[in-house]
Amino acid sequence: MIENDLNSKLKLSKDEMKKYGYQVIDHIVDHFETQKDKKPVALATREEMDSLLAEDIPNVPSPANDVLDFVMKQIIPHSNIVSHPKSYSFVPGPSNYISVMADTLATGFNIFSGGWAASPAAAELEIVTMNWLLDIFGFPTKKGGGIFTSGGSMANLTALVTARRIKCGSDFSKATIYLSDQAHSSNIKAIKVIGFKKEQIRIIPTDIEFKISLNKLKNIIARDRLEGLQPFCIIASAGTTNTGTVDPLEDMANICKAENLWFHIDGAYGGAAILSENGKQLLKGIERADSLTVDPHKWFFQPYEMGCLLVKNHEWLSSTFTEKPEYLRDIEGNQSEINFYDHGIQLTRRFRALKFYMSLKTFGLDSFKKAITYNIDLAEQTEALLRKSVLWEITSPATLAIINFRYNPIQQNLSEEELDRVNQSISKKITDSREALLVTTVLQGQVVLRMCLINPRTTLEDITNTLEQCEVYGKEELAIINEQN
Ligand SMILES: *Cc1c(COP(=O)(O)O)cnc(C)c1O
Repeated sequence: MIENDLNSKLKLSKDEMKKYGYQVIDHIVDHFETQKDKKPVALATREEMDSLLAEDIPNVPSPANDVLDFVMKQIIPHSNIVSHPKSYSFVPGPSNYISVMADTLATGFNIFSGGWAASPAAAELEIVTMNWLLDIFGFPTKKGGGIFTSGGSMANLTALVTARRIKCGSDFSKATIYLSDQAHSSNIKAIKVIGFKKEQIRIIPTDIEFKISLNKLKNIIARDRLEGLQPFCIIASAGTTNTGTVDPLEDMANICKAENLWFHIDGAYGGAAILSENGKQLLKGIERADSLTVDPHKWFFQPYEMGCLLVKNHEWLSSTFTEKPEYLRDIEGNQSEINFYDHGIQLTRRFRALKFYMSLKTFGLDSFKKAITYNIDLAEQTEALLRKSVLWEITSPATLAIINFRYNPIQQNLSEEELDRVNQSISKKITDSREALLVTTVLQGQVVLRMCLINPRTTLEDITNTLEQCEVYGKEELAIINEQN
């Protein structure tokens, strides 16, 4: 009877809550300790997942421990381990334990991080941590502002909504926007979401180094003006996801200034590198953006979801996103008490600033600097290793911890087609082995292997192991090719 009552209140007893919570913590800590001994790749078909997980709505209660055991055995293991040292592909999510616990606190206390009145401390902490970021990126801390979002995609969208309103007002039928062919797909998605047609989007080709071609950019802007169109925004990549390449930020800032265009920089991948000496050099000019996307759940080592948009003038956000429904009248507060629901798209928001705050306070910014510097060095060491070998060729040198390369034994004289086939096969075999997550990308028409080394717990030994395994698979595929020839 009593248990039934607890159930209908969605409650556990105090002892049950503690026991349950400690078990969850034990699982998480075990994972942090043992993940490097697990395999980072999860492979399962829809059929396999259906047969394991599909079921009817559970109308009646089940013992809490049974559900937890099932989740730990059958659900958690069927995901890639993005914080695994041999998880090289896409953009890894190294995460950190302090932030995981911070997220647990934010969720445990279910703190509403939309308006000042609901949580003055959450709003203040978002202001404080945002000021840290403004400072790191050389934005003005008094006038500047920003907002934490679910990720880089939402930050880019928030930026473009703002840019469109400030530069175009309500009529954007003639507006045109410029970005390179290496810009992240989330930008195109955002441009479509804000109602732009294909004819209003200019994809500018990149040069041999994957940087936006400035001449082509200038020419296309001039041509669009001649045709009576309204160029309004240039998007630069500060670290493309493919190669880590940084567009010529100073030059693009100058074009924006001369042409009176909004300058958005997508630093979702590479922005954090400003904390290293090498990255600081590459990212020169980042402070000239009107708006800047960074993505703490990538190279600032935060667990998902945490993106961030920084702007030069916080009023751009409030004037774009403020709406006043009647029921929010009583809680508006004074001007200095920011309601973050007025600075972006979400009303109800989780308390994202807490994990950034707690992890930065606990480890210190110096630790983040060291970690990021380590990542950049590791990619350079990997490049040196590959250059020494007669089996490998560098396609795109180590840049902001990303390196692209392919298996190409020099004596073999393989055709482009054969090279694509060998490298595709290496990636497939290593992924099928589940030992490392290493997939291909395509650069200048070539299939290449891409490593993104932003995990501070990845070692050169991990990389050497993976490359040795790749060499075995490469040799196997070569043997098949030679047999067929
Ligand atoms: C990852 C990434 C994004 C998208 O960010 P999400 O957090 O995945 O939404 C945007 N731009 C670049 C350059 C990225 O690397």
